[in-house]
Amino acid sequence: QLSQRLATVGAFVQPGARVADIGSDHAYLPANLALNHQISYGVAGEVVRGPFENAQREIQKLGLEDQLVARLADGLAAIQPEDQIDTVTIAGMGGPLIRHILEQRPAQLAGVQRLVLEPNVGEATVRDWLAANQFEITAERILAEDGHTYEVICADRVTHPVTYTPAEQLFGPFLLAEKSPVFIAKWQRELQRVQHAVAQMQQAKVAPTEHLAAATAKIKLIEGVLT
Ligand code: SAM
Repeated sequence: QLSQRLATVGAFVQPGARVADIGSDHAYLPANLALNHQISYGVAGEVVRGPFENAQREIQKLGLEDQLVARLADGLAAIQPEDQIDTVTIAGMGGPLIRHILEQRPAQLAGVQRLVLEPNVGEATVRDWLAANQFEITAERILAEDGHTYEVICADRVTHPVTYTPAEQLFGPFLLAEKSPVFIAKWQRELQRVQHAVAQMQQAKVAPTEHLAAATAKIKLIEGVLT
């Protein structure tokens, strides 16, 4: 049984897809997709030996060796040309790390049509990379599970330019249009956190910094969305 978070990522993987799940740990996501006959082939990539061995064990235990392979590799280096990967999933890492993985080996993405990403924090930097690399966000979900809030971003390769406003980049174009209760709660918390940080900076009478300016701009954006 997958967590709601990983099930949401999996729901955006199209039937018959050839998937690379980067940072797969136990390979729970690709294993579940293979068991449900949702994918035709999957690679579980891991850069750390322990999680890589977890993935290998899970694949063996479930008898999925014909459809799934675990590879010990850094980021997209887990993908080989003969895999014909069309979908990449990356879940459970910070946005900056997801972005780093995507931009480190652009050639590995040549045949990839869809990215399904679940950054735990720093979603804006992921959306910024997507737009700059002509991946258009086609769906988003926000969900709360075990006291955490997660965002899942599904993006497809397009040939036209993609741009997002600062608000769309921060909140997500679909999440912003939807403004679900989970979304409102997340940004109310974030507003309080940033307001507190700004108050502390002002109390400490630090000279106006880039950091303060960014925080103030963020407060404006959040207030604009919550009112
Ligand atoms: N994707 C699973 C999930 O969402 O439940 C596991 C998430 S786990 C918190 C993050 C995993 O990413 C770790 O197992 C870590 O070893 C792996 N990881 C971190 N950087 C990586 C990289 N550059 N390439 C491949 N895997 C990486």
